[in-house]
Amino acid sequence: MKTSEVIQAWGRILAGYMPALSIEITRECPLACPGCYAYGNNHLGGGVLLNQLSDFKGEELVAGILKLVDQYRPLHLSIVGGEPLVRFRELSQVLPQLSARGIHSQVVTSAVRPIPAEWARIDRLTFVVSVDGLPAEHDVRRKPATYDRILKHIAGHRITVHCTITRQMTGRAGYLREFMDFWAARSEVSKIWMSIFTPQVGEDSYEILLPEIRARVVAELLELREIYPKLDMPRGLIRAYAEPPGDPDHCVFAKTTLSMTADLKHRVTPCQFGGNPDCSQCGCIASAGLVAVGRHRLPLGIRVGSIFDASLKIGRLVGALRESGPPVIPRPKEALTDAGDI
Ligand code: SF4
Ligand code: SF4
Repeated sequence: MKTSEVIQAWGRILAGYMPALSIEITRECPLACPGCYAYGNNHLGGGVLLNQLSDFKGEELVAGILKLVDQYRPLHLSIVGGEPLVRFRELSQVLPQLSARGIHSQVVTSAVRPIPAEWARIDRLTFVVSVDGLPAEHDVRRKPATYDRILKHIAGHRITVHCTITRQMTGRAGYLREFMDFWAARSEVSKIWMSIFTPQVGEDSYEILLPEIRARVVAELLELREIYPKLDMPRGLIRAYAEPPGDPDHCVFAKTTLSMTADLKHRVTPCQFGGNPDCSQCGCIASAGLVAVGRHRLPLGIRVGSIFDASLKIGRLVGALRESGPPVIPRPKEALTDAGDI
């Protein structure tokens, strides 16, 4: 994060706004990835699933996204899903307008269909393409967004490759290095990010990294960043994977990012994972990046995180004077009496 961006974000926090907004612009996705949190039973609190929501298409979606952006005035917008590219026509209208408003947008996609060529000319727009391991693992997990398709669909663009490390990728020494060799060599790839699979509390899926494996992955990433400049992960960020925030109240990312679901009305809490994520095993790169910023000490020994916490308190007071913010979807018990809300 550049100093100017930190100062801008700080200004937004003091004014009572969340500097980042994330919108699930559609409930649809042609993939069925194991471990997908968006379609998990508790993603929206357990009352309704993402694919049961009423979402939007066409002009309604365009207007809905711009309305949210004008209301919450983020510096940074993540466009997620479902699969955002199923709404590529709408995004072709929205993305230039976001850029004109000075907002930095990122489209987080599986690249299951081509990224439109004209999007390469839009300023302040980046593409984050999910590639979960080498073809043997990725193509099984993320079909039909296979390596072959991704390579065709990113042609002519500059993208960030985002890999979520699961236990399946940790059984063989040298796996992550092979992954880096493949993607770092490609001219379309400007950056590579590595997250670690984040489970829900009580989840026992095979994707979860055991503590000793997690420690080994952290050590390996620290080595890989010295070899591959495209691995855009500062040391502090990687070390944060060894010591995640613990709970949402200690997660700067959760406190500074407003996540909205596909009805464009309700909020996903406590963070983009929704449900009850196991923060003690958090492997979200955005969260880890802000943990690293928060743990940084200024010359007088003051932790950046302390300044942030004080600013957030002021910002909440200021924000409360202005508006109450979007609601969450009622939990199942409440939903019985208030089901008409969605
Ligand atoms: S592409 Fe994303 S939203 Fe779709 S199934 Fe996979 S993880 Fe879930
Ligand atoms: S981003 Fe990670 S640490 Fe933050 S609330 Fe979500 S799971 Fe917890």
